[in-house]
Amino acid sequence: MAITDKIYIKNHQQIVSQLETSFPKSAFSGATLDILFQGEALAKLDDTTQDRVLDFAEDFLDCSCEANPHCGCAEEKFVRYLLELREQGLGPDAIVDVMGDDYMLYAYPGDVLSFLDSSVRTLEAAETLADVEGHTESATQARQLRENLVR
Ligand SMILES: [Zn+2]
Repeated sequence: MAITDKIYIKNHQQIVSQLETSFPKSAFSGATLDILFQGEALAKLDDTTQDRVLDFAEDFLDCSCEANPHCGCAEEKFVRYLLELREQGLGPDAIVDVMGDDYMLYAYPGDVLSFLDSSVRTLEAAETLADVEGHTESATQARQLRENLVR
């Protein structure tokens, strides 16, 4: 399972009752993207929730793909967002706190930790492969990205 399958909406029950419509707790589930992030739903939310939902939509759902919001861009951007927080030196607990403040989302720190570990392993593999194939520049790039994550 991808990390984006393990990102949940905080205050889910409260939002469901404001919308009077049920949707999955998982933020990136197709039904959540359809129900929570469309205009009609926004109007029914309290101001604070509305701000966070709008921020999320602006930051992750702003692509112009025909399949939006189901094109996969949102998930990709969110993974980038998590890695950037890590590069800023945040650990799993702090990352979970920040996503709560920014977008009213939460995840289990253990899941974030596994995600970060596997990202590091993926970069290690990319680095080794690039070295073997003599792509010095790609190897250096992968190494730098990895070092930013494990600092
Ligand atoms: Zn897209």
